[in-house]
Amino acid sequence: MPIKGSAYRAEGNTTLRSLCANCGKSIPTEVGHAHPLDEAVEQETWGLVGVLHGERSVFATCAVCHDAGWRPPAYAGMN
Ligand SMILES: [Zn+2]
Repeated sequence: MPIKGSAYRAEGNTTLRSLCANCGKSIPTEVGHAHPLDEAVEQETWGLVGVLHGERSVFATCAVCHDAGWRPPAYAGMN
């Protein structure tokens, strides 16, 4: 199946997908940053900064878990 647009965009490239740190759902690795005034654009992937094994790490999190209030260990805010 042909991919629309650039194959380097995470949305259309199955090699650039990650798993939600909480529920394991497949999500794009690319974290979308919608324009602050463009509230209609929904963000599918959240890069939440927490601590894993004593080091600051980014936890890929799906919108469902983010909206449900899930946060990684030692959550430090948005990066
Ligand atoms: Zn999730």
